[in-house]
Amino acid sequence: MNDRCRASVTSDGMGFHEYQCSRKAVKDGYCKQHHPDAVAARAEKSRAVWEERRKKEPWYVLSEVKKKLSDSLFEIERLNGIIKTIATDRDRFERAAVDWMTVYNRAKAGVERLTQGLKILAGEPDEQGHTHLAELHDVAACQAFAKRILAADKGGEK
Ligand SMILES: [Zn+2]
Repeated sequence: MNDRCRASVTSDGMGFHEYQCSRKAVKDGYCKQHHPDAVAARAEKSRAVWEERRKKEPWYVLSEVKKKLSDSLFEIERLNGIIKTIATDRDRFERAAVDWMTVYNRAKAGVERLTQGLKILAGEPDEQGHTHLAELHDVAACQAFAKRILAADKGGEK
């Protein structure tokens, strides 16, 4: 009959003496109790109850503690790795900064020396109106002249 639940049930719970459910079909050919959604909902509820009970078992609690400990150790290892990387990078950055300052200072000094040399070669007169072409052959005089130029650039004495 079409209006009866189409689920098979057993009277003894062992799978023997199967017979069709005698209840009235209310949805999709099943009674309220045997509809797949209801069966699935009961199975889920039963699974959740079993899961809750399992979580209280000592072996489960212990395994969870072990897992958390393992995760913590892994996290500590990970953080250690990051700290080591940061430390290494900081050292690298500091070395790079020192290298860069050395290069910059050398370049700056080089530009200054070149500027003085170019001024002398160009025969430009200094503040007193003297030219220093003759000093090109005198290293000490050339250096003294360069120092005076530098001092003048800084707004110092002539
Ligand atoms: Zn039924």
